[in-house]
Amino acid sequence: MSSDNGLEMNDYSLKGVFSSFFSRNGDSDKKNQDGKPAVDIPLQGTKYEQLRLKNLIDTVAVSPTAKKILEDAKAAGYTIALQNTKNCYGKCDAVNKVLYLNPSVPNEKLATTLVHEARHAQQHTRGTPNNVLQYDVATELKLRRATEADAQAAALQAALEIRAATKDSSILNAFEKSDRNIVSAVAVPPLSASLEEVCAAQAVNMQAAFKGWFKEKRIIDAYEESYLVKPLKYVYTQMAKDSSFCDKVKMTQSLDSKAITEMVCVAANGRSYFEQTPDILDKTPEMCGMRDETRKVADTFFKARQDLTGAPKDTSYDKLPSRDQNQTNAPSPAKQSLQEKLAQIQQMKEQQSKASARIAANYGR
Ligand SMILES: [Zn+2]
Repeated sequence: MSSDNGLEMNDYSLKGVFSSFFSRNGDSDKKNQDGKPAVDIPLQGTKYEQLRLKNLIDTVAVSPTAKKILEDAKAAGYTIALQNTKNCYGKCDAVNKVLYLNPSVPNEKLATTLVHEARHAQQHTRGTPNNVLQYDVATELKLRRATEADAQAAALQAALEIRAATKDSSILNAFEKSDRNIVSAVAVPPLSASLEEVCAAQAVNMQAAFKGWFKEKRIIDAYEESYLVKPLKYVYTQMAKDSSFCDKVKMTQSLDSKAITEMVCVAANGRSYFEQTPDILDKTPEMCGMRDETRKVADTFFKARQDLTGAPKDTSYDKLPSRDQNQTNAPSPAKQSLQEKLAQIQQMKEQQSKASARIAANYGR
């Protein structure tokens, strides 16, 4: 994600992930050279680059979830381009409406990256502001985490649907390689599961994948740093030179967990996949808490701003839990994940039997 006031944000990704330069791209780019992509989004670049992008679109569009996300990006005026995004798989530029994909990433991984970045486009269209520091601290923490967790949940669901449609696991495997916690949080259906069954479990899968995103502390740390700490430090240094710089940072409005999930966590039916648990983002320190260091940075910033402009301090984060505390009373991760998994399997069985009933009804008895 990037913004137009110099507060540049990139998607976090792991260094060293680009080891397989140009691998596996040759053969797949030779097939299917004619016609328009399955979702006709304008493509940038050379003929070869456009062909690679078209094949990526065709690959992911067999997933109804991915297809809808791409159609929404198209309707919102987005284009797609290959660009060497530093240390990122991809990037959603909501100002210029471009989805950038890193050409050095293998196609198997780039497929879910496309869905992830297009999901960000959909989030912006539905009201998520592109610029950071728009809401109070408590909202910014929850909102930015939710957008990343949701974009990965959409990518995972697309990978499951592509696998069900093609019986080829390579895209899911590539996603799992970089996001093991997300995949292990989900009750992955057997390879024999039909596309209809996997689509019927969309909300359940996305809930689980969303929660799985929060299992990796260093990723939450990285986002807290890039979406909140760095921008606050940047404005702090700028406002010392020019106090009118504070005007760029309102940070007064607030969104609660229900409002955020309704805006961000949208299922195929247009409603939140956390409809049953709208307070989900207030449940754990990982979702609503902050690091002690972040709290210090925020305190320093708001005190300096108050001295400079008289603007009152943001009190939204005063009672948020610390993410640095040891949670010794919490159930062990292994036990918790087993319990969650059992619940998911149960939910999925119910979804699958509903889907089977629907398919039976559709295709006659
Ligand atoms: Zn992202």
